[in-house]
Amino acid sequence: MEDEEHIIDFYLRVTTPERFRALKSYRKKAVSHENRKHKIDDNIFYCRYCKRCWSIVPGWVDRAKFRMYPEGNMPTFKKKRKDCPSCQ
Ligand SMILES: [Zn+2]
Repeated sequence: MEDEEHIIDFYLRVTTPERFRALKSYRKKAVSHENRKHKIDDNIFYCRYCKRCWSIVPGWVDRAKFRMYPEGNMPTFKKKRKDCPSCQ
């Protein structure tokens, strides 16, 4: 039994400052991902006429500056109702 590491020694060994920092930054990353998701969701609208989701995209993504998502591909729950540019 003398060779076995004491439980306190074990904790001191595994909770190094580097590990603690890594854990903290991992949590921070998770939060920023949540924020990013909300930002994306805020830019996606649901068109009542063609019943599809669409979003405003930068000109380099699409020259029309908006993109339609295929029907049934996107959750429409809580999406803002806004007519898409092709239905306006
Ligand atoms: Zn539409």
